[in-house]
Order: sequence, then structure tokens, then C-alpha cells
Amino acid sequence: MHEYSIVASLIDVCKKQALKANASSVKSVTLRIGRLSGIEPHFMQSCFDTFKEDTICHDAILHMNIVAVKIFCLTCKKEHEVKENNFFCPSCKSGETKMLQGQEMLVESIEILGNNG
Ligand SMILES: [Zn+2]
Repeated sequence: MHEYSIVASLIDVCKKQALKANASSVKSVTLRIGRLSGIEPHFMQSCFDTFKEDTICHDAILHMNIVAVKIFCLTCKKEHEVKENNFFCPSCKSGETKMLQGQEMLVESIEILGNNG
């Protein structure tokens, strides 16, 4: 349930970006969310919609790119996409794996509207 604080800091980042660009509002925000980041996209969306009122993001659309979990197997030296909470190599069943992606929560892009629209 840390979506509220994420949205609060996200809007803060947008505000700074818009100020820097001397823009009047934010058009869209794109997030990159790993399946294991602990973020619930539907909840994230509703948090954003609640918080964005009366902020620079009031007209902004939230996009979320959900990233699958990928591991690298140290035994067979291959990358595999795995289901959540299963870090065993799907091909050789080794437990000697390293997570490559799936836990991240990043701001991919912020689209800003200028003063002229
Ligand atoms: Zn393997």
C-alpha cells in the first residue's frame, strides 16, 4: 500500500519538470512497473486519479508498462521469463538464478504541455 507515497512523489517530479520547461500542465506520465514491484496497477491508477486533482497533473493520463520477471540462469547461462515468485530455471530447473528485471518502478517519460497548448 505504498502507492499513495509513490503517486505523491511522482506528481512532485512532474511539477519540477513542468516548472523547468515553463509549462502549464502535464499531458501524460508513463511508468515502468515490474510484476514483483509490489505495485497494484489498478490501485496505482485510482491513486493517481485521486491525487492529480488540483495539481499540475490534473489533465494527465497515467500509462503503465508492466514488465515481466526475467531471470538469468547461472547454470545454463540463459535468460528466461518466469512466473511471479518462481525463480527456478524453467529449462534446467536450477535454483542458481539471478533476477534481471521485474522489481523496478521507474518513470519512463513525462509528457508536458507548453503554454501554447
Ligand atoms: Zn538453467
